[in-house]
Amino acid sequence: MTQDDSYDVVVVGGGAAGLTGALVLARARRRVLVVDAGAPRNAPAGRVHNVLGHEGVTPRGLVDTGRREVEGFGGEVRDGRVTTVDRDGDAFRVDLADGTAVRARRVLVATGLTDHLPDVPGAAALWGTGVLHCPYCHGWEVRDRAIGVLGAGVQSAVQALIWRQWSDDVVLFTHTGAPVTPEHRALLDARGVRVVDGEVARLDAVDGTLTAVRLATGDVVARDALAVAPRFVANADVLAALGVEPVDQVVHGAVRGTHVPADPTGLTAVPGVWVAGNAADVTAQVVVAAAQATAAATAINVDLVLEDARRALRATGAHAAS
Ligand SMILES: Cc1cc2nc3c(=O)[nH]c(=O)nc-3n(C[C@H](O)[C@H](O)[C@H](O)COP(=O)(O)OP(=O)(O)OC[C@H]3O[C@@H](n4cnc5c(N)ncnc54)[C@H](O)[C@@H]3O)c2cc1C
Repeated sequence: MTQDDSYDVVVVGGGAAGLTGALVLARARRRVLVVDAGAPRNAPAGRVHNVLGHEGVTPRGLVDTGRREVEGFGGEVRDGRVTTVDRDGDAFRVDLADGTAVRARRVLVATGLTDHLPDVPGAAALWGTGVLHCPYCHGWEVRDRAIGVLGAGVQSAVQALIWRQWSDDVVLFTHTGAPVTPEHRALLDARGVRVVDGEVARLDAVDGTLTAVRLATGDVVARDALAVAPRFVANADVLAALGVEPVDQVVHGAVRGTHVPADPTGLTAVPGVWVAGNAADVTAQVVVAAAQATAAATAINVDLVLEDARRALRATGAHAAS
């Protein structure tokens, strides 16, 4: 590795979180490199919603703009995949899948998460269009349409009540989820949400558009959209060499997936390594992921400022007063 391969900060992942962190750091006059594998989680969706000033932008359009903004302040963005982050003296070595490596004084991991969909034939092909998880991301687009909710656990009844905010035609398919409690059934009845018991066998689609939910009994229920509860798994393999393992994240009393634990600034258990976005928090939507990265980036800059000041002091031969 040469001096050219040394950065103040390497950002692993260039989605909403990584690019926001890089923008803050580049504007703080830090030498920053973003390495991005180019597959933001929301790519299957046509548009991004609830991002003020960018309402309805395409997922690719948002990150393309972000990349240009980072580069406009001197940040570097490289297409590629990081395989490992490991210690290298008082810094970190970041290995890429193409066999190259770079050195970083600090690392911001913003690798997002992987949505593990329910094992229902037809679901994967419709992910992000007819098969949905987030009412705030997609609810408006399917307002007043025939919406189904695929039962996955006790929270599914509440999920059905939430989707009811966007349509008065909501069906909860209990599928293999927990039985609906009498209390939840009363609430669903009161809001006109129909409960259909029995396992869902597959989803029917015509030209890539969901048309119906087919039950194991052979019954078919016409639906325009089906809400599911994926398992959200943090993309955290790059941290394994540092001994950082993702742990379960509990949301509203239920385990919804895994995340990398960190303090409120995103600092992990390894000094010098921060995490932001969906890798840190499975619930983070785009602006929340970006906000987390802003907090992490400012904490990283302060950490570097103090290190630079201590180095400067040592160079004078003096010692800091204790
Ligand atoms: C179908 C769908 C629709 C959604 N719609 C909305 C919406 O309308 N509004 C909203 O606010 N939220 C929406 N979300 C949520 C949104 O996708 C997340 O909030 C957001 O993507 C989180 O940003 P992130 O930067 O943490 O992760 P990501 O956007 O997933 O970015 C992570 C980046 O890191 C890269 N990466 C991963 N591993 C590595 C590696 N080892 N080396 C290098 N790069 C790596 C990935 O390729 C990716 O480019 C939606 C989610 C889904 C699934």
